[in-house]
Amino acid sequence: MSQHSNTEISYSFEHEVETYKSLCQQNNSNKVSKIHEYKLEVDDGINYTTYMINGEKYSIGRNSSFSIYIPNTFVSHHHATLERVHSDSSEAGFSYLIRDGSLNGKSSKNGIYVNGNKVTECLLSDGDIIRIGPNVKARFTHTTTRKSENTNIKADSIIDSDGSIFHAIKESIFLLNIDGTIRDINKAALRLVGIEEKDIIGKDFAQTVLPEPWKSEFIKTISRVNDSLDESMLGRWSASKIKRSDGHEFHSDFSISLIENNNKITLMIVVRDITSQKIIEQQLQLYAYQDPLTLLGNRRYFLEGLGTEFSRFKHSSAKGFALIFLDLNRFKYINDTLGHDFGDSLLIVISKRIKKNFRDEDIVARLGGDEFTVLVKGIQDRVVLTHIIRRLIRSLQEPIQIREKKISISLSIGVVISTQEHLSPEELMRDADFAMYQAKESQLHQYIFFDNQIGALAQRKIQLEQELRNAIEREEFELYYQPIVSLETDYIVSFESLLRWDNPKLGWVSPSEFIPVCEESGLIKDIGIWILRQACYQLKQWNDRNIFLKSIGVSVNVSGKQIVHPLFVEELLGIINETRVSPKNLKLEITESMLIEDFEQAKEKLEEINALGIDIYLDDFGTGYSSFGYLHQLPVNVLKIDRSFTAEINTRNGLKIVESMVALAKVLEIEVVAEGVEIQEQIHCLKKMNCDKVQGYYISKPMSSDIAEEFASEHNNKVFSSTRK
Ligand code: C2E
Ligand code: CA
Ligand code: CA
Repeated sequence: MSQHSNTEISYSFEHEVETYKSLCQQNNSNKVSKIHEYKLEVDDGINYTTYMINGEKYSIGRNSSFSIYIPNTFVSHHHATLERVHSDSSEAGFSYLIRDGSLNGKSSKNGIYVNGNKVTECLLSDGDIIRIGPNVKARFTHTTTRKSENTNIKADSIIDSDGSIFHAIKESIFLLNIDGTIRDINKAALRLVGIEEKDIIGKDFAQTVLPEPWKSEFIKTISRVNDSLDESMLGRWSASKIKRSDGHEFHSDFSISLIENNNKITLMIVVRDITSQKIIEQQLQLYAYQDPLTLLGNRRYFLEGLGTEFSRFKHSSAKGFALIFLDLNRFKYINDTLGHDFGDSLLIVISKRIKKNFRDEDIVARLGGDEFTVLVKGIQDRVVLTHIIRRLIRSLQEPIQIREKKISISLSIGVVISTQEHLSPEELMRDADFAMYQAKESQLHQYIFFDNQIGALAQRKIQLEQELRNAIEREEFELYYQPIVSLETDYIVSFESLLRWDNPKLGWVSPSEFIPVCEESGLIKDIGIWILRQACYQLKQWNDRNIFLKSIGVSVNVSGKQIVHPLFVEELLGIINETRVSPKNLKLEITESMLIEDFEQAKEKLEEINALGIDIYLDDFGTGYSSFGYLHQLPVNVLKIDRSFTAEINTRNGLKIVESMVALAKVLEIEVVAEGVEIQEQIHCLKKMNCDKVQGYYISKPMSSDIAEEFASEHNNKVFSSTRK
């Protein structure tokens, strides 16, 4: 059991206890007399007025010269009279009487009612509600406060002289002898424990009202207090329990204090029923651990469950477990296109389906967004888990009907089986997440088990990220340039800039490998800026020197993560101003996949960029999702046909596909660049179908800026001379 600090006691609780204690203290030497206060609070439907009542007589009515003036049409001119009646004891104070009508006996039109009963006259008590006419209400209150005078009272008692405060106080008070027996108990406490006063006085407090373990704890504390009179043992006991005479137990807070009076020691225990507070706490507790949308456990719930299971597994012979990480594919797209309400409904359906596939003892949680996790207890067998996961995938792939729409979803799943090598629950989460990520990247697998091979990949990624952190300042990056040739003029009209990374430890690393790491780690922001600045300086320099006979363009690959950054356009503009490059020579290449993630936002950004005069190239066209459908909505100036299509141009089907892509571009009045042109024959085909430009090893591989410059000026000069012949 814990003894919390007093600061946790709610104000009213502490206040009431302290007031009572101080009154008790005063009782030791002072006589206490009462001060009476009378009030009439009138609510006429418009105004709320409080009158302090202390005079002999008050006229009430619709007469502005009256002390209690009620401007209401249903109230008579002189509706009622309030009169003071003397009582014989000054302790009891006065009484007030309300009388219907005026002093000369003329009664009101609509009468008066006290506590719902029509009266002609009535002696008022504290809290009486008086209705004056049909719609005016007044409340009469009579309160007493205490004033002390120096007179002796019962010396050995700490109860106020007549016990009226003791019994009126809302909190339940037990006064105990130092041996723990009950000496006095107030009315609230009797109600609380459901016992008659005669049945409890003299009984042992702990034995009578405390269940275990609080009973033993209390007895121990009392005996220690007895030995040392050490008050620090007392104070507040929160979240204890009280046992009623009918056996029912409920949560309560105790405040225990020692009162010393004429060498006699009394323990005062004030008990507060905190059942309703506990219910709220439990509710809050539930909220803190529950995902409000799906009612599954939330991240916190999952991590705590995982922590417990992990330590059971590590420190006992408990069986191992598996952790499954699920992530929906293209959920953001669904959300953006079909609306958030639809997305929410979808998540609810999915959560139910996931839950149905597992046992009650397994923990299914929603980590956030479209990420779910499952802790499968006691199962480490890969074959069994594979079976479970396949069943799960099957059930999740069943079409989902939400309102009038029916959709199918796909998902990526990572699985990790607990091993003794795992040092923490976080490592397990990391591995499951990584396996899920691999599944997402792979076109082949919907689920992937984390294993040594995946572990090595993860290790490699971690190393890449570490090395990439310092790559800019160590000047390990270089931009290469690959020429793009116009099929109409044969001139090299622009270059695509491609990033190269030469790291002392890792050697040359392909951008296809390290760019995704930059994107995941957020490093792409700084690296992307470096690339843009570098490309712009190069572009400016080339065009200033006019070495290619024609003005040249440079296209820069920008990742989706980079472009949706709120400062991207601002930074782009900064670089254009700094390098003084002409925006019409700068082109940005974006991929379809970036559009998928947040179409609306991407569209907005691209429009802003386009407005600066910069052309947008849609890269890897055809590899993403149904880009044809939304192409016309985007400010795209050039399509780049992915090299996988160019490679197939020699087949019947391949040719048809490229032809229709070019045709689509022509309809939309967009230029087309075919990527990955490696042989003469491809150029021939592309020319025939009116493709605008080509890029590929057939012309040249990407080159350092010096070599690219030499190559392009030589090429263009050759073209120039041949056209002059
Ligand atoms: P990408 O934007 O589609 O770039 C074209 C890739 O195709 C380049 O690979 C290029 O070297 C290669 N390529 C060009 N012609 C041919 C050909 O005829 N045959 C074959 N087989 N390949 C050809 P690279 O340089 O390895 O870049 C790979 C990817 O990495 C790029 O694909 C792009 O997505 C990314 N990347 C490269 N540089 C950057 C950059 O500066 N920023 C960003 N965000 N991504 C970059
Ligand atoms: Ca590109
Ligand atoms: Ca490409």
